[in-house]
Amino acid sequence: MSNKQEYCLICGKKEEELSYLLQGVKGSICDNCIEMVYKIYQIDKQDNKKTKNKQFKLIKPAEIKEFLDKYVIGQEEAKKVLAVAVYNHYKRLNSHINLKHNTDEVELEKSNILLVGETGTGKTLLAKTIAKLLDVPFTIADATALTQAGYVGEDVESILAGLYQNSGYDKDATERGIVFIDELDKIARKGDNPSITRDVSGEGVQQALLKIIEGAIVNVPPEGGRKHPHQQFIKIDTKNILFICGGAFDGLEKIIARRLNTQAIGFNLKDKDKVHKFNLLRHIIPQDVKSFGLIPEIVGRLPVLTYLDPLDKDALRRILTEPKNAILKQYIKLFEIDGIELIFEEKVLELIVEKAVEYKVGARGLRSLCETIMTDAMFEMKADKNNTLKITYKYALEKLKDKENIRVA
Ligand code: ADP
Repeated sequence: MSNKQEYCLICGKKEEELSYLLQGVKGSICDNCIEMVYKIYQIDKQDNKKTKNKQFKLIKPAEIKEFLDKYVIGQEEAKKVLAVAVYNHYKRLNSHINLKHNTDEVELEKSNILLVGETGTGKTLLAKTIAKLLDVPFTIADATALTQAGYVGEDVESILAGLYQNSGYDKDATERGIVFIDELDKIARKGDNPSITRDVSGEGVQQALLKIIEGAIVNVPPEGGRKHPHQQFIKIDTKNILFICGGAFDGLEKIIARRLNTQAIGFNLKDKDKVHKFNLLRHIIPQDVKSFGLIPEIVGRLPVLTYLDPLDKDALRRILTEPKNAILKQYIKLFEIDGIELIFEEKVLELIVEKAVEYKVGARGLRSLCETIMTDAMFEMKADKNNTLKITYKYALEKLKDKENIRVA
């Protein structure tokens, strides 16, 4: 110890001039220099983050779709459209940075997305999965909540507060995040659409949403303000935030059918009875969404419009077993931790799917059905002598009969 240099390696001051000297293996540093080095380190870290964020790593649409395939069953068209839109969005972000140096380039416009499809068909899941892939902050907002609170302005800002929180209070990351706005159809204005009977004063909310969707600088109250004791508001620029909106748009098929029927040329719905709902949604155009009651400005700001198919039995069955975090895979894992091999009889899967269809709970109800079947088994954790537990059709049926009231998750 005594052989060590007794001065600060950075400022060169001797030990007797200093109140503190931190000794390292090869030398020492004084308290003033420790503080200074730490400050420089913090600034550098921040700058590095900024430069890192500047150019977005582009992921090709085919790769995006491949990733979505791991989590979302079916919905081929929606996946494709979404993959292209997201690719273009982040291409646009990168080119924006280049634009600063080259002003006569074509400026790419933002392409927010509208997903139309029955509830529980995977709209939220698609948006969530995209955010996971891109590793950007993500938040889900419910358009109906905006209506009920009454304080429209504040609520719209709260969407961004949610995104800001999910970014770990990183303004730069927030401004490149993804917002999913669910139930957009519920704020459609009353009038054009016969299926909307309640006036939810949607138009005001639509106007407020329009502002953030098209791009504005919004004062966001950073909830959990502990982290920012001196700042009341954070200014978030929404121009590069990708908005994905979703809604079931109940009654939209009628609007589409009417339009298709009244079109002089083209589509002929002679065998109308045979045309399924999902076939009709496949014909969706922005005009239909306008007729439903969304203001033209909002429709204009959601230029990428696509549909989701209702989930048939085959899709529900695949959802049980195929996605990366499929429900049944999760049960198998839970038992595996206890050293038990869990096996499901084929017919159990059919039973779960049938019940989901019968109770009209769709994919959302699959988990609660499984829980009903599995709760006792998970409580007992009993296996045979080979450490195997087989869930039979008979067992599953019994458990479901015990509890006929299935709640939708
Ligand atoms: P939506 O937003 O369309 O109402 P969600 O995406 O919230 O529906 O779906 C609810 C749940 O149902 C999801 O969390 C997922 O577990 C399951 N699910 C729905 N659709 C699919 C799908 N196409 N592939 C895989 N899982 C799905």
